[in-house]
Amino acid sequence: MGLVVQKYGGTSVRDAERVMNVARRITDTYKQGNNVVVAVSAQGDTTDDLIEKAKEINENASKREMDMLLATGEQISISLLAMAIEKLGFPVISLTGWQAGVVTDTRYSAARIKRIDTERIRSELDKKRIVIVAGFQGINKYDDITTLGRGGSDTSAVALAAALHADVCEIYTDVDGVYTADPRFCKNAYKLDDISYDEMLELASLGANVLHNRSVEMAKKYNVKLSVRSSLNNNEGTYVKEVEQVEKMLVRGVTRDNDCARIALCGVEDTPGKAFQVFQMLAKSGISVDLIIQSIGNGVQKDISFTVAEGDLEASLKLLEENQPVIKANEIKWSKDVSKVSIVGAGMVNNSGVAATMFEALSDAHINIKMIATSEIKISVLVDQKDAERAVVAIHDKFLLN
Ligand code: ASP
Ligand code: MG
Repeated sequence: MGLVVQKYGGTSVRDAERVMNVARRITDTYKQGNNVVVAVSAQGDTTDDLIEKAKEINENASKREMDMLLATGEQISISLLAMAIEKLGFPVISLTGWQAGVVTDTRYSAARIKRIDTERIRSELDKKRIVIVAGFQGINKYDDITTLGRGGSDTSAVALAAALHADVCEIYTDVDGVYTADPRFCKNAYKLDDISYDEMLELASLGANVLHNRSVEMAKKYNVKLSVRSSLNNNEGTYVKEVEQVEKMLVRGVTRDNDCARIALCGVEDTPGKAFQVFQMLAKSGISVDLIIQSIGNGVQKDISFTVAEGDLEASLKLLEENQPVIKANEIKWSKDVSKVSIVGAGMVNNSGVAATMFEALSDAHINIKMIATSEIKISVLVDQKDAERAVVAIHDKFLLN
């Protein structure tokens, strides 16, 4: 008995049958005496379809109008879900982001939630209603609708759970929880019973598609008890918790991220300040750089290579070309056919030899490593995209096959 926040993703509400299924799950929780607040995503591919619709009319539509359009997807699913719950005979109300008091900053299409004014939700809960809130959206100080970035409904749910001091935040999806690797191509991958916030955050940022990374950040900050589970069965999901509460594993998961591109500046002057010049100009344009490698200079020339998100490749190249008079690279090379493969595990901190084992797995699989980056709880390598799935399998089975 308490306050439960649930989130249902797009596949969980993709058609009438699934909406009814979700309605039953929600009312079951309510029948147990809980207050229930639900955040919902748009049905199935609705958001993608809306983006396509916009492109037919204007490839460069303003972000404000894109948010206005994309927010409609969630408005469809909240009303349909509320109707389904009405049909089952339970008191319910659907609320858009602004009706629910979700206040964001002004960054259209990538807004961050600043606070949730919970009076409306509280008063609906006092009336014993189930409250269905549109995920992914909020309102900014200009009274404009904003969206939180793709996958943002997870963050809506966690923000609601934090603001309402919910007992638990359950994220329902179409998989059973968080896996050690993507089970679609890694056949030995298995579901984790639990994982720490930091590990989940790394996995989410490194290409595991289960949770929006900001939702994990927020869960950690506000100590929200998070579980990821399937809306299609009653299996125990994965719990995301404080690191002290989970068993330390050397490697908890292996991911690959195809959304990266490599840029190489070949033959730049081997003088102080070169790297600073290049990365400052990228940073100023809001382009984040990920893996970086610089070759040993010979006193005359050196090479600097780095990766950016594929979506930032064009802008990065343009910027570098424009600044060639300053950078003076002999050649600027780039490639999109690369993938970042990473391992994450809180147990790595105190263990040497993890990197060596990872590289051994790649060596045995005859996969060439192009770049390497390490931090406390993760190691990433860049490989050819065509090798990425094989790399994940090889590394996974080396560390996680018992
Ligand atoms: N509907 C939005 C998207 O497809 C938000 C979400 O599903 O979390 O990205
Ligand atoms: Mg999602």
